[in-house]
Amino acid sequence: MNNDFRHQFWEQQIRTSLIVCLGVMAAAMAMIWVCTYDLDMAIRIRGVILAAGISGILAPLGSAYAIRQNSRHLALHLQYERLANSDDLTGLANRRCFNRRGAARLASAGRSQTAQTALLLVDIDWFKRVNDMHGHEAGDDVLCHVAQTLIHAAPEGALIARLGGEEFTIMCEISRHAELTLLAEKLRCATEATHIIYHGEVIRVTISLGLAIARPGDTLSALLSRADKALYGAKDHGRNQFSVAA
Ligand code: GH3
Ligand code: MG
Ligand code: MG
Repeated sequence: MNNDFRHQFWEQQIRTSLIVCLGVMAAAMAMIWVCTYDLDMAIRIRGVILAAGISGILAPLGSAYAIRQNSRHLALHLQYERLANSDDLTGLANRRCFNRRGAARLASAGRSQTAQTALLLVDIDWFKRVNDMHGHEAGDDVLCHVAQTLIHAAPEGALIARLGGEEFTIMCEISRHAELTLLAEKLRCATEATHIIYHGEVIRVTISLGLAIARPGDTLSALLSRADKALYGAKDHGRNQFSVAA
């Protein structure tokens, strides 16, 4: 999305500066031509050439300055946008970004005949104990570690977000139900199989997952709520497992 935005920006800047430069040159030449109407033709022509030369140098310089200022504003805008949409700790999309992009995906996926939209709600098991036993900083490291595990194990193009605390979500397209359960098991195993070392201590965590598949006309909150119920089921049945919404 940012690349499209940048592309549009530069196209617009170049088009505008070309129009401005040509306009300024034409205006300068016309002004000299009109103001020197009572002078000799040779002098008028020289005046017009001089006006074209001077404005042909000054206008691009002015445009270049304006483009430089605008590109600085664009960089700031993109930086603010990134800050507003990403989670500080893990760098994943935050809840706000997920709500916007998730709803858009759901709307466009509703038109697809072949693929279905699936949502996986991921919660780290007994995470409070990690904080209690190893400290909050260790807990933060674990959150980053789990985020990286999800990024590596999730399918390409999946929308991965940290909804808050130790809860993450993955939204992706699937073509059959088995694909979703295979993915959930892959994420669960990948988390279980890895560990982090914090100040010499080995920390291992597991995750529980609630899975839901979008139904026609589903809203994002309805889908999330079904996945949440399934997640409670996975927790109730002993954690470190997934459960599929009814
Ligand atoms: P369960 O298996 O039932 O999910 O148990 P849990 O301990 O994972 O869940 P609980 O809701 O009891 O605890 C979540 C903890 O997550 C409590 C809170 O202090 C911690 N937490 C939330 N956000 C952060 C964070 O950004 N960093 C750290 N280190 N801890 C966080
Ligand atoms: Mg938890
Ligand atoms: Mg939780």
